[in-house]
Amino acid sequence: MSSATLDLSLALLKQPSVTPLDYDCQQMIAARLSNVGFQIEHMPFDDVKNLWARRGTTAPLFCFAGHTDVVPTGDQNAWDSAPFAPEIRDGKLYGRGSADMKTAIAAMVIATERFVEKHPDHKGSIAYLITSDEEGPSINGTVKVIETLEARNEKIDWCLVGEPSSTAKLGDIIKNGRRGSLNGVLKVQGKQGHVAYPHLAQNPIHLATHALDQLCKTTWDNGNDYFPATSFQISNIQAGTGATNVIPDILTVTFNFRFSTEVTADELKQRVQAILDHENLNYSIDWTLSGLPFLTPVGDLVNAAKNSIKKVTGDDTTLSTSGGTSDGRFIAPTGAQVIELGVLNATIHQINEHVNVADLEPLAEIYEQMLVELLT
Ligand SMILES: [Zn+2]
Repeated sequence: MSSATLDLSLALLKQPSVTPLDYDCQQMIAARLSNVGFQIEHMPFDDVKNLWARRGTTAPLFCFAGHTDVVPTGDQNAWDSAPFAPEIRDGKLYGRGSADMKTAIAAMVIATERFVEKHPDHKGSIAYLITSDEEGPSINGTVKVIETLEARNEKIDWCLVGEPSSTAKLGDIIKNGRRGSLNGVLKVQGKQGHVAYPHLAQNPIHLATHALDQLCKTTWDNGNDYFPATSFQISNIQAGTGATNVIPDILTVTFNFRFSTEVTADELKQRVQAILDHENLNYSIDWTLSGLPFLTPVGDLVNAAKNSIKKVTGDDTTLSTSGGTSDGRFIAPTGAQVIELGVLNATIHQINEHVNVADLEPLAEIYEQMLVELLT
């Protein structure tokens, strides 16, 4: 059951690289890439290790992106085999990071080595953007590397993030976008007083009720071919002292938008404020944008992925924008086409995380075929 992709996967899985640690993962990747003509740049920021590697100097630039860090193991005794001592049982490779996403990184490297050997004078350039801070705060990882690249006008045209996108079968799902996420904490100011003397107080709950109802009933957009309609959800409401005879002085409402590409975060902010202003409320809002939406419509990159999956597995694939955020949110705003394509995500972040060993070589073949489609 030996294969080049499995061997490199095992080496990476032995590294206990819980965020923000990388151990020797990026050194290992860099050494392999350096051997096949890549220029290596280590780009550490604070306690995070990042790797930027590039082969070629011309456009178009195809970039493999991913992370060497993994989420914590939880109670190691709950695992059937030690999380950083990868083990194969019944055709499955167990270990923390096996699905998310060290086997995909191994497949990228093997695909690249094979492609470069067959096509040493390929078109354009191949790059790697690897971080050890995807599962953590994501402050000193991909976002900083992208800032560095932007500052020197180095542009990624096509980016394949090796996140585990597959659901039931390798390659059944490609993520070609993600919804945006915008959080707001609304504070409505009133005036505290005795419930028996309401004319001497201002009840922020009563004042805000109509506006909150409006916010809940608003249609923000109707979505589009790729995204469901933008949704507004209140997650917390707090007001009151606990006493039955006191009108509270302040109401705090925490809410979140999951938004499509039909609206911008600024538009949502303005529309929320217009509703609150209409009610003449005395309020403030703290906004936190935790991710911009991105969408890669059907084009060169999506087609290359679909064709490659079809060629290797014989199956058609489905485009999806579901799921949480990923580092694709930092890469897409540069204008790059970005998709996520990797192994099955059924056990990610779980105890006994695993992948099908039989999926590793086909994944490397899909990645290699994508390089053939785009760079030859
Ligand atoms: Zn991941």
